[in-house]
Amino acid sequence: MTNHSIIEKRLLEALPAELVKFSEPIKQYTYTKLGGEADIFVTPKDANQLQTVLQLAKQYETPVTLIGNGSNLIVKDEGIQGITINLNKMDSIKTDGQTIYAQAGAKIIDVSRHALESRLSGLEFACGIPGTVGGALYMNAGAYGGQISDVLKSATVMTEEGELLNLKSEDLELSYRKSIISEKKYIVLEAEFILQPAEYEAIKEVMDKNTFLRESKQPLEYPSCGSVFKRPQGHYTGKLVQDCGLQGYRIGGAEVSTKHAGFIVNVDNATAKDYIDLIHHVQKTVKERYSVDLEREVVIIGRDSKEK
Ligand SMILES: Cc1cc2nc3c(=O)[nH]c(=O)nc-3n(C[C@H](O)[C@H](O)[C@H](O)COP(=O)(O)OP(=O)(O)OC[C@H]3O[C@@H](n4cnc5c(N)ncnc54)[C@H](O)[C@@H]3O)c2cc1C
Repeated sequence: MTNHSIIEKRLLEALPAELVKFSEPIKQYTYTKLGGEADIFVTPKDANQLQTVLQLAKQYETPVTLIGNGSNLIVKDEGIQGITINLNKMDSIKTDGQTIYAQAGAKIIDVSRHALESRLSGLEFACGIPGTVGGALYMNAGAYGGQISDVLKSATVMTEEGELLNLKSEDLELSYRKSIISEKKYIVLEAEFILQPAEYEAIKEVMDKNTFLRESKQPLEYPSCGSVFKRPQGHYTGKLVQDCGLQGYRIGGAEVSTKHAGFIVNVDNATAKDYIDLIHHVQKTVKERYSVDLEREVVIIGRDSKEK
């Protein structure tokens, strides 16, 4: 028996069968609606089950990949090797005074709405960000002048070895669309947000304004992964891409959005290769024209074709 088939068997012994899937098509979990299959796809319901998965992965030398709501991801066409973990079943949100505790699989949009219902201000910026709490901490998600680091007090994470750590916000070294979560290979389990009491109408007004701006500026009618690139110092990505005449430029089914030049949209059954080739084309064109390096914000995961 290969390590691959042993781990499949051991996972099915350790977890309820409905939490473990094999050759799972990943496009249903990504906002770009593309990507190959996950060899093994696991949705643990609690920290103990997650610990079991990590221990088995270590024992059988199987790589582990984490996905949240797939809104900042491009999964390669060749799929994801080993075990893909998704925490969508760990999604509780609770309020205690000015504090909101949200599990990693909760949608940050739902946490933002929960804050509104609890008359707590601070998460209005997040009302249209389509990721999970885990994904939002991973990249210190932000919009309209706010970001996760403004409101995060602490986070519970699990290490690769299955150890639980409670970290202060500072320990995660959150900066512009960056944290140490990827470097340390932490898995975020829960976040503690500290918010400020405010009037329902005042919070709602800011959320409505943010929603209006988002809907009027972003190509939400197409699958995408949001802003593809980080904002380079002293420039605006959208303007650079626009000034290079790249809006509407297509490779296969992937197109630089005509509505927002910082977005690449899936207009016609794009493959991950189309997307990645288009990202490289935009980076190369902007570099040649303006000597500016566009750093990718979107995360690319999956095996290379030679690994298949
Ligand atoms: C239409 C649209 C609009 C967007 N607008 C914004 C915006 O205004 N501001 C903004 O910041 N972003 C925006 N995004 C990008 C995206 O929503 C955010 O980056 C979000 O935080 C990603 O969360 P996710 O759960 O979808 O993560 P995924 O895309 O699933 O994963 C992204 C990375 O996070 C890691 N990750 C996910 N969960 C965990 C966890 N529990 N522990 C550790 N690592 C984890 C993954 O391993 C991966 O490396 C937008 C995206 C779209 C499609």
